[in-house]
Amino acid sequence: MGEAADRVVPAWALRVALVLFVLTWIFGPYELRSAVPIWIPFAIALGLELQFLWSAFRQPRASRLDRRPQVGDRERFGYGEDTSELLLVHDEGRELWIPYAGETDEELDELIADAREWADEEEMLPPTPQAPRPREIWAPVRRFLTGLAIFAVLGYAAWFVEARTGWNSVSGAGRAAAVERYSSEASRIADKPVTIRCDEARDYVGFVQHADGVALVGGDRAYLTPEICHDLYRLAFDDEVDSSRTGRAIAVLAHEAWHLRGVRDEGTTECYALQSGVELGRRFGLSDERARQLMRQQLTENALRTGASVEYRITSECRDGAELDLRTDDSRFP
Ligand SMILES: [Zn+2]
Repeated sequence: MGEAADRVVPAWALRVALVLFVLTWIFGPYELRSAVPIWIPFAIALGLELQFLWSAFRQPRASRLDRRPQVGDRERFGYGEDTSELLLVHDEGRELWIPYAGETDEELDELIADAREWADEEEMLPPTPQAPRPREIWAPVRRFLTGLAIFAVLGYAAWFVEARTGWNSVSGAGRAAAVERYSSEASRIADKPVTIRCDEARDYVGFVQHADGVALVGGDRAYLTPEICHDLYRLAFDDEVDSSRTGRAIAVLAHEAWHLRGVRDEGTTECYALQSGVELGRRFGLSDERARQLMRQQLTENALRTGASVEYRITSECRDGAELDLRTDDSRFP
């Protein structure tokens, strides 16, 4: 029972952990989705399930190396569970196991005689099957199949959510139209023809690089995360605004466009981006007031940046009438 319990407990712990992970992946912060492809936890879980199955088949063979009588034989010959010692007696080429608990020699002789009788009877009986009984094979296989069924349900749920939310839920034609639109808007800011791509494969952008977008300074192509692409899509094509996220998405597109235009310094790039973001938001369908409000919100959030994103912090020159003000004749900022 001990061995079986050891195998069952980690198997279920593993499944509970996988369920929790997938639920967190589906409903949790999008950073997790961008950082960990969903197939990784499934691959780990499958590997562990296979290992459980493998060790379940190996264990009976391992215990057969124990030359003492098998549990089944002990019960059958009445040795009982708690026999502390067994004596091995060689008798006419046979091995006899005698339960020994401090008996005298005479008592021992009796026990050996009994054992010899049992052994004789045993030889008349059909041999004890050495292979695991069908039930012993079926139990780990059933556990393994249960695991596979759970994986299938979880995998389907993850696929269902992934296919119906986010950038992947947008049709191919819709995505093509969207990147066309982002490219033309970025070209206006970059003052030259540039191409915007949505990095579905996350080769260039994502949580690991701590970036919502990537662009080569002075280059002609930039990549955005699928999340940024989708937030822009919701704004430009569905008129949906989620204030903080929408503002961030506008700022990121404008930011990469300014890099393409040739601005390298992150603080300066961000300052220009928040100013260009007002017109960009308007072109995507926001009212002038709303667009301005979203960019001011980004400006406020920018001041709270710490850690890895601190290099994006704008400087004191990023204010009305200061060095980085793109429209000194306009008293509104951004
Ligand atoms: Zn940048």
